[in-house]
Amino acid sequence: MKKLLPILILALVLLSACGEKEELPLKDQLSQCGDNICQEIEEDLGKCPEDCEQLGLPRLAGGPPSDPQRETEITAFTSPLYFTIVMHTEEDTGSCRNPKAQIPDYDGDENLMLHFTSAMREFGEMVASHSAKINMGNDWTFSNGVEKFDPTFYTDFEAMGHEIDAHAHESCINYEGVRQAIIDAGGTPTKVASGIKEDEITEELEYLDTLSPSFQILWGVASPGHNEGEEMSSWVWRPAKDDWTQHDPNGKYIHIGHGAYTNSIESVEEAIANLQPNTINTFAVFATPREFKAEMGTGISDDWSATKKECGYWANMIEWWDEFLTELDVYVESGELEYATLTEIAETFEENENNLIFEQSELPRSAESMTSRRKQSGYCGL
Ligand SMILES: [Zn+2]
Repeated sequence: MKKLLPILILALVLLSACGEKEELPLKDQLSQCGDNICQEIEEDLGKCPEDCEQLGLPRLAGGPPSDPQRETEITAFTSPLYFTIVMHTEEDTGSCRNPKAQIPDYDGDENLMLHFTSAMREFGEMVASHSAKINMGNDWTFSNGVEKFDPTFYTDFEAMGHEIDAHAHESCINYEGVRQAIIDAGGTPTKVASGIKEDEITEELEYLDTLSPSFQILWGVASPGHNEGEEMSSWVWRPAKDDWTQHDPNGKYIHIGHGAYTNSIESVEEAIANLQPNTINTFAVFATPREFKAEMGTGISDDWSATKKECGYWANMIEWWDEFLTELDVYVESGELEYATLTEIAETFEENENNLIFEQSELPRSAESMTSRRKQSGYCGL
């Protein structure tokens, strides 16, 4: 009995805690579609059109609380899946002196750089034609290449509705320098810092606080080499200083999770099926300019060329993405998925912060490396 007593007390506490606001699980609530009653949850999720006259975008917030006695409680809502296409370019030179064979020489090879910016313009326009948004995070050598060889690229890309972020691994140029390189190349950098490694994040945030106060949004906190065990959160929170995986309402930074980070319709559908209430639900898919290869035999190094039959040929890549985005149309129309830049997601988070619940005792983590997940997804840009 001695051992049972704490369990009994715990059970009593739990019972009394949930007794008042016991609700059916979300699935069961939605299974009442077709009963001609438009329940709040149905309307919030934009589901059950047969029950709800006004089928439209999910309500983000607002509306009176259903029970006046609960006015101090948060307003129930379910956000759509905020969906962003994220692109990164890496520095082509490590420690400012060692060229990297696997990264194009963005700031040294004019023809190659012009191939990539031309492919990115076409890609950016196709994406914009779907009203989708790209956040392109660039390390310093890509921005140097833009400044030298294609100085209107950033302004053109931003005019399509996309954003330019600082992406850095700081082998010799720090975040502030990478941000400055974007400005020097004519771009308007966002407040996003991407490329921070998870095992360095506590020190990194302290350093950003003092040396780079312009950064506020964190994206893609990575494990080395994007190996298995990488965090795959699919929501937004303010990382606590001593433990970034936990939410601190007073934290300066806003972390946007990317979810499974896999370019497949199946993983998007899974994320939509798992939309969490009172959460800013997020998902990103990933591409990098070097996946968009030039035509073989046109003077560009074979490393960055492909035949027109190959999936990695730039026009085929754009076609693949065009089809991918077309398949998402149905979810955009239903209001379950909404395209957004990372800045827009951070703004939506701030607007709804008082109505959010943070249940994240442990972050979800990948069982396989990013490369292996992407290969299995059938994405051809590898
Ligand atoms: Zn990187």
